[in-house]
Amino acid sequence: MPAESTTCLIAGGGPAGIVLGLLLARAGVDVHVLEKHDDFLRDFRGDTVHPTTQALLDQLGLTEEFASIVRGRIREVEMSGPDGVLMRVPLARAAFGSRFDDIALAPQWDLLDLLVREGSRQASFRITMGADARHLLRNRRGDVVGAEYVADGETVRERAVLTVVAAGRRTELRIETGSSVRDLRAPMDVLWLRLPRSDGDGAGLLVRLGDGDMAIAIDRGDYWQVAYLIPAGTDADVRAAGLEALRDRLGALLRFPDATIRSLSDLDEVKTLRVGLDRLERWWSAGLLVIGDAAHTMSPVGGVGINLAVQDAVASANVLAPLLLRAQEDPARFEKTFTTAPLARIQRRRAFPARVTQAVQRLVHRRVIERAFANRGPRIPFLLAADLRHGGLVARLAARALAWGIRPERIRGIAGGPTVRRHPR
Ligand SMILES: Cc1cc2nc3c(=O)[nH]c(=O)nc-3n(C[C@H](O)[C@H](O)[C@H](O)COP(=O)(O)OP(=O)(O)OC[C@H]3O[C@@H](n4cnc5c(N)ncnc54)[C@H](O)[C@@H]3O)c2cc1C
Repeated sequence: MPAESTTCLIAGGGPAGIVLGLLLARAGVDVHVLEKHDDFLRDFRGDTVHPTTQALLDQLGLTEEFASIVRGRIREVEMSGPDGVLMRVPLARAAFGSRFDDIALAPQWDLLDLLVREGSRQASFRITMGADARHLLRNRRGDVVGAEYVADGETVRERAVLTVVAAGRRTELRIETGSSVRDLRAPMDVLWLRLPRSDGDGAGLLVRLGDGDMAIAIDRGDYWQVAYLIPAGTDADVRAAGLEALRDRLGALLRFPDATIRSLSDLDEVKTLRVGLDRLERWWSAGLLVIGDAAHTMSPVGGVGINLAVQDAVASANVLAPLLLRAQEDPARFEKTFTTAPLARIQRRRAFPARVTQAVQRLVHRRVIERAFANRGPRIPFLLAADLRHGGLVARLAARALAWGIRPERIRGIAGGPTVRRHPR
């Protein structure tokens, strides 16, 4: 069986894994990213790039390249129910002075390609597409010392100073970490479909609550990416009711022209996405770190999962780059176990934003989505409802939290190339 070695082995080439790989490689750390699929072209990947991530791309000098893949910009968040507008906030009013005052819509495959291209400029960056990480490798003490993966039908065992699991919500590697998962249960699944867009339909991000259901339409330029929310586990019932019933529901909710709704011609065009909401109790062990959705699976509420995953990667790179660089120079590095204190520090730093964001998502699940399923309007106190409707201070603060997240990260010392601070923060 072929054997390889690297300094940091990252299982999973999503936003978390690629950004971590890029940042570490820029610092001069040897990185190998394993991505199970042969390309990034999957339609269900979210594509909202929030101001926090835009600011990071700017720090990396990638603003211009990023602009070339942006398909649209959400400048206003609007939520409305059968009785009219519930919340409307122009994001510029919530930016409080920042020049990044919108949510950019960029297909995630283009963003990942851009980041990989950038990573590949560094000699220390390596990515293998079509590489499925199957198992974590452990030494006799049980410390993680790398991973076994399969690529091109060949099984490879790769040793690493540090192994990072960034393989998303469904990876079996989560179980192998040995940490228990706290399941917070999302009440919905999502039917994911496209509808053509014309200018009279509206723009930006539309959130529509109906009588017993809910839909979100994301403006992707010439088409709408529609997420139709259904109670968890009811996909078979919706499909059994047939195409016409689904079109009727979408027509009533989205209020798009009939021809737009009728362009949905087959239920096969509709994909079902299971929504998860959970988190690992412990994101690390000797030689191992877990980040992104693998550490804390996010609900699609707020479209913040990509941004949280990226923030995890930045916080991890800030802490790890100098330590891994130092370890890389040690000839005995594979006989030693990477120290756990910095890994625990990364969890302490990033668990807080993940927990708070998940708590807000659960609140929205209970107060808005579950109530929409039960054919009741959202439960919002009267004064707050008035503020939200008119884009008042609370609405602006909510939009600000949505756009910037909690505890936004900045890249420290490694953005411009292989110069790192000697000591972690
Ligand atoms: C319906 C839905 C819509 C969403 N919409 C949005 C949105 O608009 N905006 C937003 O910010 N968030 C959205 N999210 C959440 C967002 O998709 C995730 O939070 C985000 O992608 C997490 O990034 P990640 O890098 O941690 O994991 P992922 O994006 O899941 O990436 C993990 C990668 O690891 C690879 N992989 C898996 N197993 C292995 C293995 N064994 N070996 C090697 N590679 C492996 C996968 O192929 C994948 O490329 C949505 C989620 C859902 C369910």
